[in-house]
Amino acid sequence: MDLDLTAEQELVRDTLRQFALERIAPVAEELDRESRFPYELVAELAELGLMGLPIPEEYGGAGGDTVSYAIAIEELTRIDSSVAITVAAHTSLGTMPIYLFGTEEQKREWLPDLASGRKLAAFGLTEPGAGSDAGATRTTAELRDGQWVVNGSKIFITNAGTDISGCVTITARTGEDEISNIVVPNGTPGYEISAPMRKLGWKASDTRELAFRDCAVPEDNLLGPRGQGFHQFLEILDGGRISVGAMGVGLAQGAYDLAFAYAQEREQFGRPIAKFQAIQFKLADLATEIEAGRALVLKAAWLKDQGRPFAREAAMAKLYTGELSNRAVNWSLQIHGGYGFMDEYAISRLYRDQKILEIGEGTNEVQRLVIAKHLGL
Ligand SMILES: Cc1cc2nc3c(=O)[nH]c(=O)nc-3n(C[C@H](O)[C@H](O)[C@H](O)COP(=O)(O)OP(=O)(O)OC[C@H]3O[C@@H](n4cnc5c(N)ncnc54)[C@H](O)[C@@H]3O)c2cc1C
Repeated sequence: MDLDLTAEQELVRDTLRQFALERIAPVAEELDRESRFPYELVAELAELGLMGLPIPEEYGGAGGDTVSYAIAIEELTRIDSSVAITVAAHTSLGTMPIYLFGTEEQKREWLPDLASGRKLAAFGLTEPGAGSDAGATRTTAELRDGQWVVNGSKIFITNAGTDISGCVTITARTGEDEISNIVVPNGTPGYEISAPMRKLGWKASDTRELAFRDCAVPEDNLLGPRGQGFHQFLEILDGGRISVGAMGVGLAQGAYDLAFAYAQEREQFGRPIAKFQAIQFKLADLATEIEAGRALVLKAAWLKDQGRPFAREAAMAKLYTGELSNRAVNWSLQIHGGYGFMDEYAISRLYRDQKILEIGEGTNEVQRLVIAKHLGL
């Protein structure tokens, strides 16, 4: 058994660690405060080949493996979740459906722009009435004169409304008990995108409500066979959970880093608070759990890279690291005392950015349902 990273995976980790510290850390607080989308950082990440890391080079990606991708997302989240979710949603949710289910022609049409980061992609699954029960989608697509005419709405969709958003892949009902995935390009008449939604965290990321009113797209924009949309989105979510799991580890590590540093600096009762056993035990527990969480995420990523089943491990990784990141930001803020409650201290942003990791791409409860199913219950 070899637990060492390859030279390439180490290079990804070191490059992203440096990029996050030098380029993201200095602006993260301002982007969050102004709820401003990080266009400049996305362009720089695109230059580094990060906007299509696991997409093969022939389609404009970097041809990296899933382990490298998970490491990259962890390193970004360690410093800022908004940038990390922008990359993760674009890659795992926006680009992957086209890569996994598209025809050669569709891949050649869409992937070069997406994998190079010239355009961003979104995945529109959630609807006002269909969240955890994503199969309850009410958006319809009716085939009329060689076009899919889409009617309905989506909510909480990441990356759909930026200046560089190119398309959204949506799930739509294409018949009785039949769901299909259809690509809707931005700018299609009848496709309306709301103003950015105001939210607790991930403030610099783009989150929108989408409305489709007699929105007609070519018949060829169907992804894969008609009626396969349900299976397709489950597969997309399985892969997406590895990246959200990586976000959980990254956020926990980031919170730990802040608490570790603060505990050495802050003095009370005549000595650094790091000298108190109560503080040491919290940091010791966190360091231990972060190792465990990282191992779960990397195992799921490694299984995927081997072409082996990974859905159970991805759900476990996502559940465990979601709850771990909750403990991590909570304890880290506690170690910061009142200062942690102030906006000048990064932990307050990490604290707000955490909660969604227990909700997006399947809530903790949904992960437990998935795991229980894999256990044969
Ligand atoms: C910032 C943000 C970005 C997002 N980005 C995207 C995106 O890009 N694309 C996209 O499609 N979606 C996106 N989502 C949607 C996200 O995936 C959903 O919010 C999530 O799946 C939960 O759905 P819901 O919010 O409707 O909650 P609900 O499904 O209404 O759940 C409410 C509560 O009920 C619980 N519950 C529901 N069913 C069960 C059950 N059977 N057993 C036990 N408990 C249950 C849930 O666990 C939860 O605690 C995003 C959401 C947010 C907030």
